[in-house]
Amino acid sequence: MGYDEHGHCPMLVAGKCSIYEQRPRTCRSYDCRVFAASGLLCDDPGKSAINEQVSRWQFQLPEEIDQIELEAVRRATAFLEEQEPGFSVTERTLAAIERHRQFLAPGTAQDEEASEQA
Ligand code: SF4
Repeated sequence: MGYDEHGHCPMLVAGKCSIYEQRPRTCRSYDCRVFAASGLLCDDPGKSAINEQVSRWQFQLPEEIDQIELEAVRRATAFLEEQEPGFSVTERTLAAIERHRQFLAPGTAQDEEASEQA
């Protein structure tokens, strides 16, 4: 599938996949948005097509919490880059997504909520 003038999949309508139940197998098994969220690109030279798509993703962050969560993912990514140098880019990205709530700015409502759930 091609992409629209904004770099979005044409099946993305109002922020949702308009063919979600019939989406391609590639979409079912792989979500490159995790790289866009972490700010990392695949380091495998054979994955340049993925990196092209990753660089096209533009997140809409309409709510303050969206920006806060994205910043937490980026902080988790930086932390893991320093603390887990043996992680591949994919491992680091997935771990950052999984652990990002631990990197919410202290004192935010989201941080307090995460603390209560821990
Ligand atoms: S899941 Fe696939 S088809 Fe659906 S919007 Fe995303 S990229 Fe497009």
